[in-house]
Amino acid sequence: MKYELPRLPYEYDALEPFIDAKTMEVHYTKHHQTYVNKLNEALEKAPEIADRPLDELLRHLDEVPEAVRAAVRNHGGGHLNHSFFWTIMKPPAGDVAPGGKVAEAIDASFGGLAPFKDAFSAAAAGVFGSGWAWLVIDASGRLAVTSTPNQDNPIMRGERPILGLDVWEHAYYLKHQSDRAGYIKDWWSVVNWQAVDEAFKGGSGGAIAA
Ligand code: MN
Repeated sequence: MKYELPRLPYEYDALEPFIDAKTMEVHYTKHHQTYVNKLNEALEKAPEIADRPLDELLRHLDEVPEAVRAAVRNHGGGHLNHSFFWTIMKPPAGDVAPGGKVAEAIDASFGGLAPFKDAFSAAAAGVFGSGWAWLVIDASGRLAVTSTPNQDNPIMRGERPILGLDVWEHAYYLKHQSDRAGYIKDWWSVVNWQAVDEAFKGGSGGAIAA
């Protein structure tokens, strides 16, 4: 099973002015491509697991041979995270509030959109070093805001992500430099709430095919 970059569902400049075209191009063609390449290299060294779905390997890292476990975790996680990340963004269009079932669940869990955005933004700002902020359905079926270090994905601890934000510096440094808070604020304008609602209702939740 050989992994490839998924098609980007919009042009590099489609998220301007909130996320700039150069960042999108480098992030997709360099960073994401490198995760794909290094994941494939790792799986070539472990043919006994190469045909198992990536999300399954990440849920059961203890079953991945130790020689490639860190590579599968970091580069497999990187591939899964970025494949998901591209789909939960879309060109800015003014309709920046969620609808559907996920809107009801956010209201019920966080007391409204504004408190949810505050909690999520705080989690994203609070990631030390490189990592991700997430809105997940946790093991008990409740919505929760959380974060992960590096390229870890919440499925590694039994949660299902329905929204995620990359706060590695490579995701924002060209435009926002050290202003992670400014990047987070801008990012809300390009969230694809329809995709989040679909993930909430039982879509792939980050699962991807090779
Ligand atoms: Mn990234």
